[in-house]
Amino acid sequence: MKLKDIGEFGFIDRIEPLCKVHSANIVRGIGDDCAVISVSPELNLLITTDLLVERVHFLLDWQGPDTLGAKALAVNLSDIAACGGTPKEAFVSIAVPDHLEINWLENFYKGMADLADKFKVSILGGDTTRSLTDLVINVAVTGLSRSGETLLRRSAQPRDVIAVTGSLGDSAAGLELLRNSLEVPETVATPLIKAHLSPSPHLLQGQMLAKSGACNAAIDISDGLSSDLNHICKQSGLGATIFEEKLPISKALRQLARRLSVDPIDWIINGGEDYVLLAAIKPDKYEELAQKALIEGYQLTEIGRFESTVGINLVRVSGEILPVMPSGWDHFRRKATSETI
Ligand code: ADP
Ligand code: MG
Repeated sequence: MKLKDIGEFGFIDRIEPLCKVHSANIVRGIGDDCAVISVSPELNLLITTDLLVERVHFLLDWQGPDTLGAKALAVNLSDIAACGGTPKEAFVSIAVPDHLEINWLENFYKGMADLADKFKVSILGGDTTRSLTDLVINVAVTGLSRSGETLLRRSAQPRDVIAVTGSLGDSAAGLELLRNSLEVPETVATPLIKAHLSPSPHLLQGQMLAKSGACNAAIDISDGLSSDLNHICKQSGLGATIFEEKLPISKALRQLARRLSVDPIDWIINGGEDYVLLAAIKPDKYEELAQKALIEGYQLTEIGRFESTVGINLVRVSGEILPVMPSGWDHFRRKATSETI
């Protein structure tokens, strides 16, 4: 049996029992967006790490070093956002192939440092080594969150509103445009490609959800809506219903789908790397929170409800009800949109 036979999540399920927790102050170990460690009665320390590998996650000729550096940090900040925290420190490790110029690496760090400065994250260390083939980037980020406010995946409740903090599917469509040279106007292609190459971590949205007292659980959509909603459902022992007519779709994605005569639903449901947050909101608090979000300049869109019966269903505009399988991005199974990278 190989990793590709059980997938990333099958593998994590198998190793989790081997990774024993030895201290009483661990609130959450494997299984959430961040590990959560209680450091005082009021405060939790958050830690997250993500690995980006050339030809698995990115191609060097798709983007400059500055946006790649920013993205390597952004995907970690997104996990801090999913827990409602404030990012604090970062550690950056790279395995560098011989052909990369120092100038390229400096620009990689400049891109990362610009994003770090924006969110007042201190880059405190890392490791550097040679790679025989591809560029490998690992970033780890710490953050802080108030004990009563840390958002986890496992505490969604039946009837909670499922809400997202941004539009879905843009990144997957942008990836499709990068992989295939399609005849598409720049006004359509640019925002979609930007969504894929330069995601913005929804830190302020995460903090607003955490402080609201209205949010029971959250996750960031990195693997795709179907996969990440399934993570929350599995951990909370729930199911969910989502409504196609409510799914937030950007103008550019609508235009692309129309031009290519394709149904964008697969990008929306299974495309990964949106890096928006998916939250479980108490039903009686949702309207007030959505209004507050609007006033503060954030988008919060209800897309469905959590259910006490397991399984995820999609109600299509036609009224047809389809079961949704978690088929977002799984690097070992290569099931999602990014088959060739
Ligand atoms: P995310 O998409 O939010 O970054 P992942 O799906 O990558 O989360 O990981 C899910 C959980 O599994 C996290 O708690 C992560 O720390 C843990 N995890 C992933 N890979 C490993 C590994 N090789 N060893 C131990 N824990 C892992
Ligand atoms: Mg995550």
